[in-house]
Amino acid sequence: MGTVTKGIFKVGETVELKVNAVQRAATAKNHSATHLLQKALRTVLGSHVEQAGSMVSEDRLRFDFTHFSALTAQELERVEALVNEQIASNLNVNTKVMNIEEAKKEGAMALFGEKYASDVRVVSMGDYSKELCGGTHVSNTGIITVFKILTETGIAAGVRRIEALTGNGVFAYYKELENELNLAAKTAKTEPAQLTSRIEGLLEEIKAVKSENEKLKSKLANSSLGDVMNQVADVKGVKLLAVKLADVDMNELRNLGDQLKEKLGEGVIILASAMAPDKVNLLAMATEGAMKQGAHAGNLIKELAALVGGGGGGRPNMAQAGGKNAAGIDSVIAKAQEALSGQIK
Ligand SMILES: [Zn+2]
Repeated sequence: MGTVTKGIFKVGETVELKVNAVQRAATAKNHSATHLLQKALRTVLGSHVEQAGSMVSEDRLRFDFTHFSALTAQELERVEALVNEQIASNLNVNTKVMNIEEAKKEGAMALFGEKYASDVRVVSMGDYSKELCGGTHVSNTGIITVFKILTETGIAAGVRRIEALTGNGVFAYYKELENELNLAAKTAKTEPAQLTSRIEGLLEEIKAVKSENEKLKSKLANSSLGDVMNQVADVKGVKLLAVKLADVDMNELRNLGDQLKEKLGEGVIILASAMAPDKVNLLAMATEGAMKQGAHAGNLIKELAALVGGGGGGRPNMAQAGGKNAAGIDSVIAKAQEALSGQIK
Protein backbone atom coordinates (compact mmCIF):
# COMPACT_ATOMS: atom_id res chain seq x y z
CA MET A 1 0.00 0.00 0.00
CA GLY A 2 1.32 3.47 -0.84
CA THR A 3 0.33 7.06 -0.23
CA VAL A 4 0.99 9.94 -2.62
CA THR A 5 2.55 12.65 -0.42
CA LYS A 6 3.79 14.97 -3.21
CA GLY A 7 2.85 15.50 -6.88
CA ILE A 8 0.55 13.27 -8.95
CA PHE A 9 0.95 10.34 -11.33
CA LYS A 10 -1.32 8.87 -13.97
CA VAL A 11 -2.12 5.37 -15.16
CA GLY A 12 0.44 4.26 -17.72
CA GLU A 13 3.33 6.25 -16.29
CA THR A 14 6.55 4.51 -15.29
CA VAL A 15 7.29 4.72 -11.56
CA GLU A 16 10.29 3.60 -9.51
CA LEU A 17 9.44 1.57 -6.41
CA LYS A 18 11.78 1.75 -3.42
CA VAL A 19 11.31 -0.60 -0.49
CA ASN A 20 12.67 0.37 2.90
CA ALA A 21 14.86 -2.73 3.39
CA VAL A 22 15.42 -2.29 7.13
CA GLN A 23 11.73 -1.79 7.84
CA ARG A 24 10.79 -4.73 5.60
CA ALA A 25 13.31 -7.05 7.27
CA ALA A 26 12.13 -6.15 10.79
CA THR A 27 8.49 -6.62 9.75
CA ALA A 28 9.30 -10.02 8.18
CA LYS A 29 10.82 -11.20 11.48
CA ASN A 30 7.65 -10.24 13.33
CA HIS A 31 5.43 -11.85 10.72
CA SER A 32 7.34 -15.13 10.65
CA ALA A 33 7.23 -15.17 14.46
CA THR A 34 3.39 -15.12 14.36
CA HIS A 35 3.48 -18.44 12.46
CA LEU A 36 5.75 -19.99 15.11
CA LEU A 37 3.56 -18.47 17.83
CA GLN A 38 0.36 -19.96 16.41
CA LYS A 39 1.89 -23.44 16.35
CA ALA A 40 3.34 -23.03 19.85
CA LEU A 41 -0.08 -21.91 21.18
CA ARG A 42 -1.76 -24.96 19.61
CA THR A 43 0.91 -27.20 21.12
CA VAL A 44 0.59 -25.74 24.64
CA LEU A 45 -3.14 -24.93 24.79
CA GLY A 46 -4.73 -27.34 22.27
CA SER A 47 -5.98 -27.53 18.71
CA HIS A 48 -9.01 -25.30 19.48
CA VAL A 49 -6.62 -22.35 19.08
CA GLU A 50 -7.32 -20.54 15.79
CA GLN A 51 -5.93 -17.26 14.52
CA ALA A 52 -8.54 -14.53 15.01
CA GLY A 53 -6.45 -11.64 13.76
CA SER A 54 -2.88 -10.47 13.45
CA MET A 55 -0.95 -7.24 13.05
CA VAL A 56 2.73 -6.95 12.29
CA SER A 57 4.82 -3.81 12.06
CA GLU A 58 8.54 -3.20 12.12
CA ASP A 59 8.60 -2.82 15.89
CA ARG A 60 6.11 -5.31 17.26
CA LEU A 61 3.61 -8.06 16.55
CA ARG A 62 0.11 -8.72 17.74
CA PHE A 63 -1.61 -12.07 17.49
CA ASP A 64 -5.29 -12.66 18.36
CA PHE A 65 -6.51 -16.22 18.88
CA THR A 66 -9.44 -18.21 20.18
CA HIS A 67 -9.06 -19.49 23.72
CA PHE A 68 -11.47 -19.48 26.65
CA SER A 69 -9.31 -18.22 29.52
CA ALA A 70 -6.25 -16.14 30.39
CA LEU A 71 -2.95 -17.95 29.95
CA THR A 72 -1.07 -18.82 33.13
CA ALA A 73 2.48 -17.60 33.65
CA GLN A 74 3.68 -21.16 33.03
CA GLU A 75 1.76 -21.45 29.75
CA LEU A 76 3.17 -18.14 28.53
CA GLU A 77 6.66 -19.24 29.51
CA ARG A 78 6.25 -22.52 27.61
CA VAL A 79 4.87 -20.78 24.50
CA GLU A 80 7.72 -18.28 24.51
CA ALA A 81 10.32 -21.03 25.04
CA LEU A 82 8.85 -23.14 22.21
CA VAL A 83 9.05 -20.24 19.76
CA ASN A 84 12.63 -19.48 20.82
CA GLU A 85 13.53 -23.18 20.36
CA GLN A 86 12.32 -23.03 16.73
CA ILE A 87 14.32 -19.84 16.19
CA ALA A 88 17.46 -21.48 17.61
CA SER A 89 16.86 -24.54 15.38
CA ASN A 90 17.46 -22.44 12.25
CA LEU A 91 14.49 -23.88 10.37
CA ASN A 92 14.40 -23.12 6.65
CA VAL A 93 11.34 -21.18 5.53
CA ASN A 94 9.90 -22.43 2.22
CA THR A 95 7.00 -21.10 0.18
CA LYS A 96 5.17 -23.26 -2.33
CA VAL A 97 2.12 -22.55 -4.47
CA MET A 98 -0.22 -25.53 -4.58
CA ASN A 99 -3.83 -26.54 -4.97
CA ILE A 100 -5.95 -25.67 -1.91
CA GLU A 101 -7.18 -29.25 -1.46
CA GLU A 102 -3.62 -30.54 -1.62
CA ALA A 103 -2.52 -27.89 0.92
CA LYS A 104 -5.30 -28.85 3.32
CA LYS A 105 -4.37 -32.53 2.92
CA GLU A 106 -0.82 -31.65 3.96
CA GLY A 107 -2.25 -30.05 7.09
CA ALA A 108 -1.59 -26.41 6.26
CA MET A 109 -3.29 -24.05 8.74
CA ALA A 110 -5.88 -21.83 7.07
CA LEU A 111 -7.79 -18.85 8.44
CA PHE A 112 -11.21 -19.94 9.68
CA GLY A 113 -14.01 -18.58 7.47
CA GLU A 114 -11.58 -17.14 4.90
CA LYS A 115 -12.33 -17.66 1.15
CA TYR A 116 -9.26 -18.94 -0.71
CA ALA A 117 -8.53 -19.22 -4.46
CA SER A 118 -7.98 -22.69 -5.91
CA ASP A 119 -4.21 -22.14 -5.89
CA VAL A 120 -2.72 -21.02 -2.57
CA ARG A 121 0.70 -20.13 -1.22
CA VAL A 122 1.89 -22.37 1.59
CA VAL A 123 4.62 -21.18 3.96
CA SER A 124 6.46 -23.92 5.87
CA MET A 125 9.05 -23.52 8.61
CA GLY A 126 10.92 -26.81 8.78
CA ASP A 127 8.46 -29.50 9.87
CA TYR A 128 7.21 -27.26 12.66
CA SER A 129 4.72 -24.94 10.97
CA LYS A 130 2.74 -24.94 7.75
CA GLU A 131 0.28 -22.13 6.95
CA LEU A 132 -1.54 -20.64 3.98
CA CYS A 133 -0.05 -17.15 3.76
CA GLY A 134 0.82 -14.53 1.17
CA GLY A 135 3.02 -12.41 3.45
CA THR A 136 6.70 -11.56 3.60
CA HIS A 137 8.87 -13.90 5.62
CA VAL A 138 12.45 -14.47 6.72
CA SER A 139 14.28 -17.21 4.80
CA ASN A 140 15.33 -19.01 7.98
CA THR A 141 13.84 -18.83 11.50
CA GLY A 142 17.33 -18.08 12.91
CA ILE A 143 17.03 -14.60 11.39
CA ILE A 144 14.26 -13.78 13.90
CA THR A 145 17.06 -14.03 16.55
CA VAL A 146 14.83 -13.96 19.64
CA PHE A 147 11.16 -13.74 20.65
CA LYS A 148 9.68 -12.08 23.76
CA ILE A 149 6.03 -11.94 24.86
CA LEU A 150 5.08 -8.57 26.37
CA THR A 151 1.41 -8.96 27.24
CA GLU A 152 -1.47 -11.41 27.06
CA THR A 153 -4.98 -9.98 27.37
CA GLY A 154 -8.61 -10.74 26.57
CA ILE A 155 -10.13 -8.62 23.79
CA ALA A 156 -13.54 -10.30 23.40
CA ALA A 157 -15.38 -13.32 24.73
CA GLY A 158 -13.16 -16.29 23.91
CA VAL A 159 -10.55 -14.21 22.10
CA ARG A 160 -7.08 -13.55 23.57
CA ARG A 161 -4.35 -11.22 22.33
CA ILE A 162 -0.60 -11.63 22.62
CA GLU A 163 1.75 -8.73 21.94
CA ALA A 164 5.38 -9.60 21.42
CA LEU A 165 8.76 -8.46 20.13
CA THR A 166 11.49 -10.05 18.03
CA GLY A 167 15.11 -9.33 17.11
CA ASN A 168 16.39 -5.85 17.92
CA GLY A 169 13.06 -4.98 19.53
CA VAL A 170 13.83 -7.51 22.28
CA PHE A 171 17.32 -6.10 22.85
CA ALA A 172 15.93 -2.55 23.04
CA TYR A 173 13.28 -3.77 25.51
CA TYR A 174 15.86 -5.37 27.81
CA LYS A 175 18.17 -2.37 27.49
CA GLU A 176 15.35 -0.13 28.69
CA LEU A 177 14.62 -2.49 31.61
CA GLU A 178 18.32 -2.51 32.49
CA ASN A 179 18.44 1.29 32.49
CA GLU A 180 15.35 1.42 34.66
CA LEU A 181 16.83 -1.12 37.09
CA ASN A 182 20.13 0.77 37.28
CA LEU A 183 18.29 4.01 37.94
CA ALA A 184 16.16 2.39 40.66
CA ALA A 185 19.30 0.95 42.30
CA LYS A 186 21.07 4.31 42.11
CA THR A 187 18.05 6.06 43.64
CA ALA A 188 18.03 3.50 46.46
CA LYS A 189 21.81 4.02 46.84
CA THR A 190 22.71 0.42 46.10
CA GLU A 191 23.71 -2.02 43.32
CA PRO A 192 21.05 -3.71 41.11
CA ALA A 193 21.84 -7.15 42.60
CA GLN A 194 21.17 -5.80 46.13
CA LEU A 195 18.02 -3.84 45.22
CA THR A 196 15.49 -6.29 46.68
CA SER A 197 17.28 -6.67 50.01
CA ARG A 198 17.74 -2.89 50.06
CA ILE A 199 13.98 -2.36 49.62
CA GLU A 200 13.28 -4.92 52.36
CA GLY A 201 15.69 -3.03 54.62
CA LEU A 202 13.99 0.28 53.87
CA LEU A 203 10.55 -1.20 54.61
CA GLU A 204 11.88 -2.46 57.97
CA GLU A 205 13.25 1.00 58.69
CA ILE A 206 9.92 2.65 57.85
CA LYS A 207 8.15 0.20 60.15
CA ALA A 208 10.56 0.99 63.00
CA VAL A 209 10.23 4.75 62.45
CA LYS A 210 6.43 4.49 62.39
CA SER A 211 6.36 2.59 65.65
CA GLU A 212 8.80 5.07 67.21
CA ASN A 213 6.54 7.88 65.99
CA GLU A 214 3.50 6.27 67.62
CA LYS A 215 5.39 6.02 70.92
CA LEU A 216 6.46 9.67 70.72
CA LYS A 217 2.92 10.79 69.93
CA SER A 218 1.65 8.92 72.94
CA LYS A 219 4.41 10.40 75.13
CA LEU A 220 3.59 13.86 73.85
CA ALA A 221 -0.10 13.42 74.57
CA ASN A 222 0.76 12.26 78.08
CA SER A 223 3.00 15.24 78.73
CA SER A 224 0.40 17.66 77.37
CA LEU A 225 -1.94 16.08 79.89
CA GLY A 226 0.51 16.92 82.72
CA ASP A 227 -0.44 15.91 86.21
CA VAL A 228 -4.21 16.07 85.95
CA MET A 229 -5.13 13.81 88.80
CA ASN A 230 -5.37 16.87 91.08
CA GLN A 231 -8.18 18.15 88.82
CA VAL A 232 -10.48 15.30 89.82
CA ALA A 233 -13.80 16.72 91.02
CA ASP A 234 -16.45 15.03 93.09
CA VAL A 235 -19.94 15.17 91.60
CA LYS A 236 -22.51 13.71 94.02
CA GLY A 237 -20.02 11.00 94.99
CA VAL A 238 -18.88 10.27 91.40
CA LYS A 239 -15.31 11.21 90.45
CA LEU A 240 -15.11 13.44 87.35
CA LEU A 241 -11.99 14.27 85.39
CA ALA A 242 -12.59 16.79 82.59
CA VAL A 243 -9.43 17.87 80.77
CA LYS A 244 -8.63 20.25 77.94
CA LEU A 245 -5.85 19.17 75.56
CA ALA A 246 -4.26 20.32 72.32
CA ASP A 247 -3.30 18.42 69.13
CA VAL A 248 -4.33 14.98 70.32
CA ASP A 249 -6.12 12.86 67.73
CA MET A 250 -9.10 10.62 68.48
CA ASN A 251 -7.00 7.45 68.60
CA GLU A 252 -4.62 8.93 71.15
CA LEU A 253 -7.55 10.39 73.08
CA ARG A 254 -8.92 6.87 73.55
CA ASN A 255 -5.51 5.62 74.72
CA LEU A 256 -5.29 8.47 77.22
CA GLY A 257 -8.83 7.84 78.38
CA ASP A 258 -7.98 4.20 79.09
CA GLN A 259 -4.88 5.19 81.06
CA LEU A 260 -6.77 7.77 83.11
CA LYS A 261 -9.53 5.26 83.85
CA GLU A 262 -6.87 2.98 85.36
CA LYS A 263 -5.61 5.79 87.60
CA LEU A 264 -9.08 6.96 88.51
CA GLY A 265 -10.43 3.53 89.50
CA GLU A 266 -14.09 4.51 89.19
CA GLY A 267 -15.57 7.65 87.69
CA VAL A 268 -16.19 9.66 84.52
CA ILE A 269 -13.59 11.07 82.15
CA ILE A 270 -14.15 13.84 79.62
CA LEU A 271 -11.37 14.81 77.23
CA ALA A 272 -11.51 17.70 74.75
CA SER A 273 -8.74 18.37 72.27
CA ALA A 274 -8.41 21.12 69.68
CA MET A 275 -6.68 19.97 66.49
CA ALA A 276 -7.33 23.32 64.77
CA PRO A 277 -9.57 26.34 65.47
CA ASP A 278 -12.36 24.55 63.59
CA LYS A 279 -11.63 20.96 64.57
CA VAL A 280 -12.35 19.53 68.02
CA ASN A 281 -12.25 15.94 69.31
CA LEU A 282 -14.38 15.02 72.29
CA LEU A 283 -14.35 11.80 74.27
CA ALA A 284 -16.33 10.64 77.29
CA MET A 285 -15.85 7.47 79.31
CA ALA A 286 -17.73 6.10 82.29
CA THR A 287 -16.68 3.14 84.45
CA GLU A 288 -19.02 0.36 85.66
CA GLY A 289 -19.39 1.96 89.08
CA ALA A 290 -20.18 5.40 87.62
CA MET A 291 -22.78 3.92 85.26
CA LYS A 292 -24.49 2.20 88.19
CA GLN A 293 -24.87 5.65 89.74
CA GLY A 294 -26.50 6.96 86.54
CA ALA A 295 -23.57 8.28 84.46
CA HIS A 296 -24.05 7.87 80.67
CA ALA A 297 -21.10 8.78 78.42
CA GLY A 298 -23.24 8.88 75.26
CA ASN A 299 -25.70 11.38 76.72
CA LEU A 300 -22.87 13.50 78.20
CA ILE A 301 -21.23 13.77 74.79
CA LYS A 302 -24.52 14.67 73.14
CA GLU A 303 -24.98 17.59 75.54
CA LEU A 304 -21.36 18.82 75.56
CA ALA A 305 -20.66 18.48 71.81
CA ALA A 306 -23.27 21.17 71.13
CA LEU A 307 -20.96 23.66 72.93
CA VAL A 308 -18.26 23.15 70.28
CA GLY A 309 -20.65 23.16 67.34
CA GLY A 310 -20.72 19.41 66.96
CA GLY A 311 -22.86 16.39 67.48
CA GLY A 312 -22.31 12.84 68.54
CA GLY A 313 -23.30 10.13 70.92
CA GLY A 314 -22.47 6.63 71.87
CA ARG A 315 -22.68 3.88 74.40
CA PRO A 316 -23.14 4.46 78.15
CA ASN A 317 -19.48 3.53 78.81
CA MET A 318 -17.79 5.25 75.84
CA ALA A 319 -18.70 7.98 73.37
CA GLN A 320 -16.97 10.36 71.05
CA ALA A 321 -17.82 13.40 68.95
CA GLY A 322 -16.29 15.97 66.67
CA GLY A 323 -16.78 19.72 66.82
CA LYS A 324 -16.18 22.76 64.63
CA ASN A 325 -15.46 25.43 67.22
CA ALA A 326 -12.37 25.13 69.47
CA ALA A 327 -13.33 28.33 71.29
CA GLY A 328 -16.13 26.35 72.94
CA ILE A 329 -13.80 23.88 74.68
CA ASP A 330 -13.56 25.92 77.90
CA SER A 331 -17.32 25.87 78.29
CA VAL A 332 -17.29 22.08 77.71
CA ILE A 333 -14.93 21.71 80.69
CA ALA A 334 -16.95 24.21 82.75
CA LYS A 335 -20.28 22.56 81.91
CA ALA A 336 -19.08 18.98 82.51
CA GLN A 337 -19.86 18.95 86.26
CA GLU A 338 -23.38 20.27 85.78
CA ALA A 339 -24.08 17.80 82.94
CA LEU A 340 -22.89 14.85 85.01
CA SER A 341 -24.72 16.09 88.07
CA GLY A 342 -27.98 15.94 86.13
CA GLN A 343 -27.42 12.25 85.46
CA ILE A 344 -26.54 11.05 88.96
CA LYS A 345 -29.48 9.62 90.92
ZN1 LIG B 1 1.55 -15.24 7.54
